[in-house]
Amino acid sequence: MAWQRELDALEEADEIDLDAMEAEEEEIKNEVDTSKPLLVAIVGRPNAGKSTLVNTLLGEERMMTGPEPGITRDAVHVEWEHEGRKYRLVDTAGMRKKAKVQEKLEQMSVHESLRAIRLANVVILMTDAQSPMDKQDLQIADLVIREGRSLVIAVNKWDLVEDKAKRLAEIEDKLKRSLNQVKDVPVITISAVTRQRLGKLLQAVVGIYDTWNARVSTAKLNRWLNYATQKKPAPLVEGRSNRLRYITQAKTRPPTFVVWASRPTELPESYKRYLMNSLREDFNIPGVPIRFYVRTSKNPFAE
Ligand code: GDP
Repeated sequence: MAWQRELDALEEADEIDLDAMEAEEEEIKNEVDTSKPLLVAIVGRPNAGKSTLVNTLLGEERMMTGPEPGITRDAVHVEWEHEGRKYRLVDTAGMRKKAKVQEKLEQMSVHESLRAIRLANVVILMTDAQSPMDKQDLQIADLVIREGRSLVIAVNKWDLVEDKAKRLAEIEDKLKRSLNQVKDVPVITISAVTRQRLGKLLQAVVGIYDTWNARVSTAKLNRWLNYATQKKPAPLVEGRSNRLRYITQAKTRPPTFVVWASRPTELPESYKRYLMNSLREDFNIPGVPIRFYVRTSKNPFAE
């Protein structure tokens, strides 16, 4: 991987030129290229309302007008624009299949969602408000996060829910208990039929996409590291300090950070979690997976 090589080179150099990195980062700061479509996958159990949502988003005509239906739908790019942003739906194959073999799709598994997830930038997980976030939904959510994609949960058929406040509290409670790797995944209650809050759903998609693309400057990160390690130093290793020397963001999509430590293998998981959670809070990176690697300083005993 390119960024891996980049990192190796960085590490090789050991004294990294902060000014040069800053200048480079200045250039790539706004790397969300809004001329390119945002790749969206819509996944979820059968009957959650995926096809209905697509039809509503695109307008019925559009969905019906594939050239030579049944053969070339594959080649049709399902694309639309909303408030200045372009979206492209990926893996419409799953939905096309549905028209052909309804029964088969009833078994649509977590595994089958993987293809769509891998093709996407943002995954909309649709769940039925009448039985929201069941085991399979949670498995899919977990998969999205493990694959490093950004996730938005759309609780559909909200028009059918009577005690809305109670249902929402139930869902949030369930998420809090099951998706602890990622805090604050956006949850939008919608109705694909009545079009309730579809604008809000797309806003959430764009918001999470931008966060997924977030880049924090190396200077800011290192000032932060200094502060975070002073506030709570890494546990001592055999009476010696485990110094965290340097941090940089190696890549975006998802935000990936690398920190150099004198004794990386001795850095406890709980301490890594402390750093990750502080990063999230201090740089406002909610709701997306974050990757965090600890590497060894070239010569930990150099000083
Ligand atoms: P898919 O299998 O996920 O593509 O689900 P469909 O789009 O085929 O929807 C399954 C059923 O749920 C259909 O009968 C839809 O009319 C219905 N449905 C979808 N969205 C909504 C909604 O927001 N509200 C209500 N009341 N029904 C919906």
